[in-house]
Amino acid sequence: MTGATRPSAAGRTDIGRMRTGNEDSLLVEPPLYAVADGLGGHRAGEVASGIALDTLLAEAPKRADSKSLGRAVRGANRAVIDAAVAGSGRAGMGTTLTAVMVDGPHLAFAHVGDSRAYLLRQGRLSQLTQDHSMVADMVRAGQLTAEEARFHPQRSVITRALGSDPAMVVDTFDHEAEPGDRLLLCTDGLTTMVDDTVIERLLAEASGPQAAVEVLVDEANRAGGHDNITAVVIDIGDVPASAMAPAAGSGEARRRVAARLLWAVAALALVGAAAWGAYSLAHARAYLVAKDGQVVVYRGVPGEFAGVRLSWEVQRTGIAVSSLDPVRARRLEAGLLRFSSLEKALAAVEGMRSVPQSSTPATGTPPAGP
Ligand code: MN
Repeated sequence: MTGATRPSAAGRTDIGRMRTGNEDSLLVEPPLYAVADGLGGHRAGEVASGIALDTLLAEAPKRADSKSLGRAVRGANRAVIDAAVAGSGRAGMGTTLTAVMVDGPHLAFAHVGDSRAYLLRQGRLSQLTQDHSMVADMVRAGQLTAEEARFHPQRSVITRALGSDPAMVVDTFDHEAEPGDRLLLCTDGLTTMVDDTVIERLLAEASGPQAAVEVLVDEANRAGGHDNITAVVIDIGDVPASAMAPAAGSGEARRRVAARLLWAVAALALVGAAAWGAYSLAHARAYLVAKDGQVVVYRGVPGEFAGVRLSWEVQRTGIAVSSLDPVRARRLEAGLLRFSSLEKALAAVEGMRSVPQSSTPATGTPPAGP
C-alpha cells in the first residue's frame, strides 16, 4: 500500500429466497476484494467458488497490478480444475470470479464470468466489467436489448468460467480512482433482480459500505431473491496527491475492456462441461446430419445439455444422401461427421458436391469431436 488512507469496505452474501444453498463466495481482505458465483449445484458450486477465492488470496500479488492479479486468477482456475479431478466438488463445477486490488488511487481488476464490478463516481454508476454470457454476446450483436437480457430465460448461461478450461482467458484492466469513488462487486443474483438505475440510487444514498451491502441485498430479496446474492462495496476515501503521482498505469481514467468474443474455449473437450460452458464450447463446432434425405449442416453439437439447446440448423445442402458413397453415408447416418468449426463442415460439404461419388477417396473426415 502507498500512504493512502485504507479504504473502508463491507461484504454480504445471502442465500436469496428460492435456493436451498448458497454457492456464492466473497473475499474482503484489504487490499484484495472479490466475489465468486459457483456453478454446478449443491456441494459443487460452493466448493468451486470457495477454492477459487482461497487460491486467489494465497496467490495474490503484493501490488495492485492487474496482470499479476490475472495470473492469480489463472492459478485459481487450475485449483478448481485440480479439485474436481481429485474428487472434491464435482466434475463440471465452476465459478465466476470478479476481483479488485486497491492501492491508493490505483485499482487493478481481474474478471471472468457474469459477476460484475461497478464504479459509482459523483453519483453516476458505470459498469467496469463486460459479462461473459450468452445474453451479453447477443446484446453486443444487437439481438437483444439490455433490458430483454435481464429477463431472458438463458440469462444465466455464461461463456467463460473458472473450472473447465486450462487455457481460460482472464479480463484484466487498471483504473484510476478519484476521491469519493465507491466500488461495487456483485454476483448476478443482484443484477438480475435489481435494475442498474436502482443500484445506482441505493449505492449513492447509502451512508457507507456496510449500509450499502445491506440495502442492496435486501432489495434483491424484495424483488424475489431468485438466486444467491453477493455484494462487496469499497469506499476509496481520500486519495492523497502524493499517492496519485507514482501510480502505475495511470493516464487511462476510463479504460474498459474491449468486447471480445473468445471462442478459443471451443477447442476444448465438451465432455463433463456444465451447461454454462457447453454453450461456448458448442457454438464454434459443426456437424452434418441426414434430414429428409439430404445432407444438412448444423452449427453446434447434437442434443441438449441441461436443457440448453446446443445446435442450430445452418444450411440444407440439397445433396441427396443417396448420392454419397456408402462409407460416407454410413458415417453421416451414425452422426460421425462432426467438425471443429463451421468452415470445416462447409468445406466437407463442398467436397461432397465436387468429387464424383464413384471416385470419392475413402479418406472421409476424422471426427473432430472430444
Ligand atoms: Mn448467480
